Amino acid sequence: MRTEVAVVGLGPVGGVLASLLAAAGVDVTVVEPTTDVFPVPRAVALDDEVLRFLASVPALPPVQTVGRPRAELVTGGGRLIAAMDFDGARNGHPGLGFFHQPTLESQLRSLLDGRVLADAVVSIHQAADDVELRLASGSTLTARYVVGCDGASSTVRGSQSVAFPGRTLPRPWLVVDAVGKPIADTFRYVCDPAAPAVSMPVPGGHRWETMRTGSREYSPHVPVGLTVTRSVEYTFSARTAEQWRVGRVLLAGDAAHVMPPFAGQGLGAGLRDVAALWWRLVAALQGVDELDGYESERRPHVRAMTRTALLAGAVVQTRSRPAAVAVRGALKAAGLTPWFRRGGLRPRDRRLVPNVRVDVAGDVRRLDGWLPFGEYADLRLTGSRQVAIGDVVGTDLDGWLLQLLRRRDGAVRVRPDRVLT
Ligand SMILES: Cc1cc2nc3c(=O)[nH]c(=O)nc-3n(C[C@H](O)[C@H](O)[C@H](O)COP(=O)(O)OP(=O)(O)OC[C@H]3O[C@@H](n4cnc5c(N)ncnc54)[C@H](O)[C@@H]3O)c2cc1C
Repeated sequence: MRTEVAVVGLGPVGGVLASLLAAAGVDVTVVEPTTDVFPVPRAVALDDEVLRFLASVPALPPVQTVGRPRAELVTGGGRLIAAMDFDGARNGHPGLGFFHQPTLESQLRSLLDGRVLADAVVSIHQAADDVELRLASGSTLTARYVVGCDGASSTVRGSQSVAFPGRTLPRPWLVVDAVGKPIADTFRYVCDPAAPAVSMPVPGGHRWETMRTGSREYSPHVPVGLTVTRSVEYTFSARTAEQWRVGRVLLAGDAAHVMPPFAGQGLGAGLRDVAALWWRLVAALQGVDELDGYESERRPHVRAMTRTALLAGAVVQTRSRPAAVAVRGALKAAGLTPWFRRGGLRPRDRRLVPNVRVDVAGDVRRLDGWLPFGEYADLRLTGSRQVAIGDVVGTDLDGWLLQLLRRRDGAVRVRPDRVLT
């Protein structure tokens, strides 16, 4: 069997990549051994940049989120030390939202109906013009490009002998999900040296993540009105593949990098990979190979996000009491600065064009709703508040696009992933 692009793994990263390629008219085949979604919600938090990207996937229902875009650092007794408020207005989505990963995965599986081979890749062999995938069933699949979205223990990465250096955190964490009456609407880092924890709202319930501090049984206090649906222990790692491209084989998502969940960005990083990769693959199939730009563009952002996740983890996992007092003092001081309060610790993608509200003859949509799918777009200043988006002329109701255009001599070019060139 032949295909243009083989996507290995139908987690959220492979699912979004394959959906975008299919919408762009690419002959894409997904190889995935499981026939049902992984039922447990792993990722729960997404930021405005990633929510905006998901909203650009044709036919994918809007991702439903709950919670306030705020993270609080509190003492073991629940006293507020500092807080961060994440503003997502420039992207048109909440700066932080909590969603249900299995729902997203089932929606992606429906979109990809008929394109999935229920099989597993066991080995990969590259030739000059294509790649042969050997499958567990004994059959083969030949593709022009292969993207390994097969998770942290990626067979694709292993088949290309790509190392996955990094480190594993010393202590495991217990993740407890419960359904029932919502008890809080913000993300909380509990900076308690005796019982480091994080806690957050999830659609229809709540999640606690608690660090194991000794050999005793440990579990959060689950209030009346909530019922525990699962309780799993994880040991988190921070690792990045040494190479994300070997010839016609690429890596994305957890196959390329993993980070502890303390910044809520592991899946976000994988989806940002897809944003940077899918249209490059479409171009490569048409003879324009800019695929090397994928890794060079994404690696620094993943490095910065991993650093942020490790820093947040180090703060919450502080075990000695004197160190915890010092950390609390530093957080209190930081919490007085506007930079910290605005969530400045989280790396932002400043290259995204602001997703302003644009009024075209009374039809008000976000800029993304006026941009063509899968193409570059030219934006020009045509009046005091008027902008031209290709042939469409409208009014920028928020003003951020106008400011940008004035700074850039009245014209900018936007890539298919809404990044300014
Ligand atoms: C407790 C916890 C909390 C988290 N919280 C967050 C959060 O709040 N926000 C966030 O952004 N991220 C979070 N993450 C991280 C996030 O869940 C992952 O980054 C994300 O699920 C990775 O998606 P993926 O598609 O890359 O890989 P996966 O979801 O692992 O999918 C890989 C797929 O590949 C398939 N596969 C494997 N081997 C093969 C093979 N040989 N052939 C074919 N298919 C194969 C598998 O069956 C699977 O379907 C959290 C993770 C954990 C564990």
